[in-house]
This record gives sequence, structure tokens and C-alpha cells, in this order.
Amino acid sequence: MAAVDAQTIGKSYGATAVLDDVSLTFEDGRFTSLLGPSGSGKTTLLRIVAGFVTADRGRILIGGEDVTHVPVWKRAIGMVFQSYALFPHMSVDDNVAFGLARRGVRGAEASRRVGEALEMVRLSGFGARRPKELSGGQQQRVALARAIVTRPRVLLLDEPLSALDRRLRQEMQVELKRIQREVGITTIFVTHDQEEALALSDHVAILDRGRIVQAGSPGEVYERPATRFAASFLGDANFLEGVVADGGVIVGGVLVRTDDALPASGAKALLAVRPEKIALVPAWGAAPAGANAVPATVRQVVYAGAASTYLLDGPGGVALTVFAQNRTGGPVAEAGAAVTLAFPPKQTILIKD
Ligand code: ADP
Repeated sequence: MAAVDAQTIGKSYGATAVLDDVSLTFEDGRFTSLLGPSGSGKTTLLRIVAGFVTADRGRILIGGEDVTHVPVWKRAIGMVFQSYALFPHMSVDDNVAFGLARRGVRGAEASRRVGEALEMVRLSGFGARRPKELSGGQQQRVALARAIVTRPRVLLLDEPLSALDRRLRQEMQVELKRIQREVGITTIFVTHDQEEALALSDHVAILDRGRIVQAGSPGEVYERPATRFAASFLGDANFLEGVVADGGVIVGGVLVRTDDALPASGAKALLAVRPEKIALVPAWGAAPAGANAVPATVRQVVYAGAASTYLLDGPGGVALTVFAQNRTGGPVAEAGAAVTLAFPPKQTILIKD
């Protein structure tokens, strides 16, 4: 059974539709990210699941039970926000025990569960401290311990790492994933950070202006983006626009093939290729047999040590990007060089809209 089921959720503020018929299933034990740009409706959807916001239309099921009209405190959810929202005057122990006391768990049982939760987030021994005596990362661990100590059915995380600096954020990503696995709790994670979504999730749902444009495993949504928006929001993409002919798409006079089923000859088509799927073949080399071979001119090379990014002009003047590891030393081509871009038809994706 799905842990959480959002069914045809609609929400407007005044004349603005914030969520437009959103349906999404959150499987038991799975870590699902709601990924989208600011204002796409992620937080609103999370708050509707939590019960802080009431939807205009649709239903929320938790563990098969319709909770659409059930108040927040009866939904058995745990929540962590971007701001830690710890009680500053209370100790770490008391902060974590807060939700237990409200549920009537006190005394030795409460102490045991607080101890377990702090051990889970690796803060054993910090129970007597006040929040201000902890680092940002430690405070966020306390918030996490407080959310899981009541053994909720669902853990809701609203950009919980975005206040942390880059290094700490990466450390906390690893920690968060470990804790989520160990507890085995169904988790819904709101983020606008695509790398974070890919690194943490079992399932990613991409939102654009109140609609889910694509949902799937990180590999599925990255390798097979369904729309132009999904392709460019989750990672970088090269777009090749042309007309269907000769079993491929003619882009600026060059035939580009794809393994995807094409519309009829004469129709317009849009192809996408990820920058790391393209091999840059110098003028003296040859593209591998069966690969697309597209002539291009290097406009700029951005050297970054381990890898280089090549900005190129392709057929019909289309701007293209290639990302390549510097396996043989520095960049393989300089600005002004004429090169061939080689990429397999299998990695050339037909974009539906
Ligand atoms: P996200 O989390 O993707 O950044 P939100 O769900 O917070 O997006 O917001 C989606 C849209 O709804 C935004 O345009 C925002 O301004 C609007 N919105 C959110 N909450 C309210 C509210 N309480 N009143 C009016 N508009 C709101």
C-alpha cells in the first residue's frame, strides 16, 4: 500500500492556481523529492499533505486512510523546516521530548526514546545543551530527532539543508540518507536543488507551475526527460530542433538520428542530448560507427582541472555544450577548432513538448 497518496489536488490563492490537478503516490519507505523552481508549488503540496493548508479539490490518503479533513496533529507526520524551529530556552533533550509529552509518553519511556533518537542522529551526550550551544548542522539533527522520535508514518522535509553551507550540506545529505534508510520511514523532501534531489531520492517528481511534469527514479528522469523543462531543470541539455526526414531529424542541414519513435516525415521535432554523452572528436579523428556525427566549432573552453566544458557553435548556429573529463591532460580542442561531435542515437532523446 502507498504510504501517501495525493489525488487530483487543486489549490488556488485568489486568481492564481498554485496546484493544478496534482496526483502523486509516495510509496512506503521511499524517499521522494518534490523538485522545482521557486513558486512551482512544492511547499504548498507538502503543507497540504501535512494538513497546514487545505486543498480546494482532491484528497490526501495516508496509509490508505482519507485524512483530507483530519487535523495536522492527528495525521502522524513528522516535519523538519529550513529554519530549525527549536525552542531556544529548552535543552536538546526537552526539545526532542516535546512531541512525546504531547502524546502522553513521559518518564523512563520518554528518556529511552529521546536517547535512541539522539543516538540515531549521532548527538548522544548533547542532551543537556541549549540549541544556541550547537552548530547549524547539529541543530538540524536535533530537529530531525524531534521529528522521528514520535515514530510518524511520514517524514516531511521542507528544504531542511538550505541554510547550511555547501560542505556541511553535503555531509548532512549523507547523514539524512543514512537515517532515512535506518528508520525506513517514508519521506517527502522539498528542494529546488537538482543535485540534492538526485543524490538523496528513490523517486523524483518535477514540478513546473503547479503541475507534475515528470516523476520517476533519478536515473529515469535524468536519462529520459519528458519535456524541455524537465531536461533543462534537471541537469544541462543540448537541444536540437529540426524537421523529420530520412529516418532522423534534419538539424541545420545535418541528419541526427534517435532510437525513439519519430513522428511522420515533415513534422517538427525536438531532440535533447546531455553534455557528457557527447564525445568531442578532433579534425584528424573519426566518429565511431553508428554514432551521430555533427560538425561544430569550439567557441570557448572552460578548464576546471578534472574536466573541461566546451561551448560550441553547431549546425545552423545552434549553441551546444560538451562536458568531458580531461583524461589525456588538458582540453582536447581550443577555441576556433573545427570538431565533430559524436553521440549515440540511444542517448539522443525525442522531447515530447
Ligand atoms: P515553492 O515551494 O515551489 O517555492 P510555494 O508552494 O511556496 O512554491 O508557492 C507557490 C505559489 O503560491 C507562489 O506563487 C506563492 O507566492 C503562492 N503562495 C503560497 N502560499 C500563499 C499564500 N498563503 N497566499 C498567497 N499566495 C501563496
